[in-house]
Amino acid sequence: MALVRERRTVHVRRNDTVKVLTGKSKGRTGRVRRVYPAEGRAIVEGVNFVRKHTRANPQKNVQGGVLEREAPIEASNLMVVCSECGRPTRLAHRILDDGKKVRACRRCDGILDK
Ligand SMILES: [Zn+2]
Repeated sequence: MALVRERRTVHVRRNDTVKVLTGKSKGRTGRVRRVYPAEGRAIVEGVNFVRKHTRANPQKNVQGGVLEREAPIEASNLMVVCSECGRPTRLAHRILDDGKKVRACRRCDGILDK
């Protein structure tokens, strides 16, 4: 994961419902919890669990043991599920009359950003 200075964006936004296209969690859908645009990655609820081994730290009140956490997943492996028609779709971009840029479903033409 190289550090990139150029401005990058990803097509998914927080709270999107997405479908996972590849990898261990292929076929699963979940809600986007966090997006890391610079890295092109996102955290999806219930997807890509990793086990993190932690040492107990009484000062910080941290219990030792194995922790299961979601790890960021490559955003290109995610497809946004349209909130209007419920199908995974590629996105179109529209500019509304008030000048707002929104994402639209390529299948049903529904607006995803409200
Ligand atoms: Zn749609």
